[in-house]
Amino acid sequence: MAFIQTLNNIKKPILLSVLAAVFLSCPNLSAKELIVVRVAVLKDKQEVTLSVSGPYDIIDIRKNKVIFHSKDSASFSVVCVKEGLKVKNMVYAADAIRIDPQKKISVTVNKRRYRGDISIFKDETCKLCVVNTLDLESYVKGVLYHEISHKWPMDAIKAQAVAVRTYAMYQKEVMKNKNYDVAADTSSQVYGGYFAETSKTNRAVNFTFGEALLYRNKLFPAFFHATCGGMTENASELWKLDIEPLSGGRVCGFCSESPHYFWKTQMDLKVIQEKLENRYSLEGTLINIRVSERNPTGRVRALELEDDLLNKLVIPAKEFRSLLGPDILRSTNFSIILENERVVFAGKGWGHGVGLCQWGAFGMSKKGSSYKQILEFYYPGAVIMRLS
Ligand SMILES: [Zn+2]
Repeated sequence: MAFIQTLNNIKKPILLSVLAAVFLSCPNLSAKELIVVRVAVLKDKQEVTLSVSGPYDIIDIRKNKVIFHSKDSASFSVVCVKEGLKVKNMVYAADAIRIDPQKKISVTVNKRRYRGDISIFKDETCKLCVVNTLDLESYVKGVLYHEISHKWPMDAIKAQAVAVRTYAMYQKEVMKNKNYDVAADTSSQVYGGYFAETSKTNRAVNFTFGEALLYRNKLFPAFFHATCGGMTENASELWKLDIEPLSGGRVCGFCSESPHYFWKTQMDLKVIQEKLENRYSLEGTLINIRVSERNPTGRVRALELEDDLLNKLVIPAKEFRSLLGPDILRSTNFSIILENERVVFAGKGWGHGVGLCQWGAFGMSKKGSSYKQILEFYYPGAVIMRLS
């Protein structure tokens, strides 16, 4: 059923029904074009294996020309070679090709099946980037499965669907001159292809069809995170981004059921020094770490390292977390306890804390809030607009 609905959506031109002013501020959203998202599903590969069920064409993207046509299904590899791309033992002098299947949901890349078509780009170091181009709504369906539990209340899932759609549309603006809009991993939004869908998450996407958040008539990166741990973060603490919907400071009393609300981890000083040393090297041996600055939401902004030669070094907490491992140090909202050679981090929340708190959305929806109320709470000043 979801498949049929999606095909209907593909055939229907997506028209903006929002005000002309909004339309003008979103130049990529042409009234006659289907909104598609280009997802980099594989990067930095020398070779990829594809399976196509049914007839298909291979197109040289730069020349916009069919270079191969097949009436039958096939499995084959695409290999990066000096002269271009080797497909089925034929070398084509091309650095960008597209596999255009006649049937939908019929291309498998390295055993994972995708809706839409597949493009392969070769870069100057002879590495391949595989890009799945598909309509926006199908993309949101493929992301939701990974980003939120389908067992959660419907309004929490709907709120997430609108955030995912907004983020993707914003990325389309930012990346319009690149080969893809979003990556399929945690650097963007985790996208799992066709099999990463459930009927409930698909329903949430259909309910909110075409809805996105705008602030002052413009799209913005509707960031989200697992658990804020009590208060959302100001995006300007992490990026050059200072707008009301991402200004943080929302007191979130809704995510306390999250398993990540409190966390604890420990690491030896020696290991910490090793993890930091490529970026921040100390002359002596690391003997102490202390919090040197916190920001208004209580998160650590900077840390001071000290070695046995009494050298001191201040480093941003954002980088400290990234170098130690963002899944080990789950947030920058932590306290430090030094136990001999070992540092104990006692923290709250998981993620950067900007925008929608996923466990907070869960808590709000359990208390009866609608997805619109959830979005209004976590993205103050933003309005929901429907593309119909
Ligand atoms: Zn929260």
